[in-house]
Amino acid sequence: MKIAYLGLGIMGRPMAINLVKAGHDVTVWNRTPKNVEGARTAATPAEAAKDAEIVWICVADTKAVESVLFGPNGVEQVLRPGVKVIDSSTIAPLATREFAARVRAKGAEFLDAPVTGSKIGAENAELLFIVGGPEKTVTALEPLFLTLGKKVIRVGETGAGESAKIGMNLMVATIFQGFAEALALTEKLGVPPEKLVELINSSMIRSGVTDYKASFVLNQDWSPNFPLRLMLKDIRLMLDAAQQEKVALPALREIEKVYQKAIDAGHANHDYAVTVETVKNL
Ligand code: NAP
Repeated sequence: MKIAYLGLGIMGRPMAINLVKAGHDVTVWNRTPKNVEGARTAATPAEAAKDAEIVWICVADTKAVESVLFGPNGVEQVLRPGVKVIDSSTIAPLATREFAARVRAKGAEFLDAPVTGSKIGAENAELLFIVGGPEKTVTALEPLFLTLGKKVIRVGETGAGESAKIGMNLMVATIFQGFAEALALTEKLGVPPEKLVELINSSMIRSGVTDYKASFVLNQDWSPNFPLRLMLKDIRLMLDAAQQEKVALPALREIEKVYQKAIDAGHANHDYAVTVETVKNL
């Protein structure tokens, strides 16, 4: 298929590489010029999308998606009936519904398809796609999703993918905060961190979050798999949605303060796992 891939960050780059490996005809674009071996490079989102059947986006936040779609030289300028736009960024569900309506006004289709699985999942084509949009479009694109991932779950209509994704990350943030606080306390009480991890892994407390993060924490390796700045962006998406829907999220409100402290300490581009240090220093 002819695919335009827009956004070559930690997640987008391996996804674009895996599309090339799967034999697709890929054109890439990134705000800061970057190439992917085996793909053409376009100078603007519109140039990348001009002949594409699929326009796949994975950029940082809501503003970035808006600019790629509707900014100067944005995708909207070349949208035509039949084109399918897939957004794998994690952004606001409300904005997603507005963006989808503008895309559909041009006769094109739109799916919100945020992912979970982080850098390693993207590199190994083992992502989970959390999709919102018409069932027919999701079913038609399932084989394409499965070239980059292990599973596709359609949650509901447009925006439902993003809504579910922020719910998933709410769990990630709270589970990781529990891990960070347990480490801070038990270390003071004299329990070696590697013993706590061994106990976690041998008990019902084990989770995908600690499976992924514990070795990074034990090695104090804060290189970004999921940068702190993006987790804080997601925490704010959750808090905004909670305010709109009048849902109290007391634990998350405290976690937001921890992440802000970590940003203030200069950790924006480190992995969010660095909050283990922040919690210890509170
Ligand atoms: P990243 O490494 O920070 O990459 C962000 C990408 O967005 C870069 O290509 C960046 O371009 C681009 N960008 C930022 N602002 C832009 C703007 N205003 N206009 C156009 N492009 C812009 O982030 P990532 O980890 O790949 O994450 C991408 C998305 O996936 C985010 O929504 C994130 O929350 C979500 N996600 C990430 C993970 C993870 O573990 N990393 C997991 C699941 C979901 P430049 O190169 O020019 O800065």
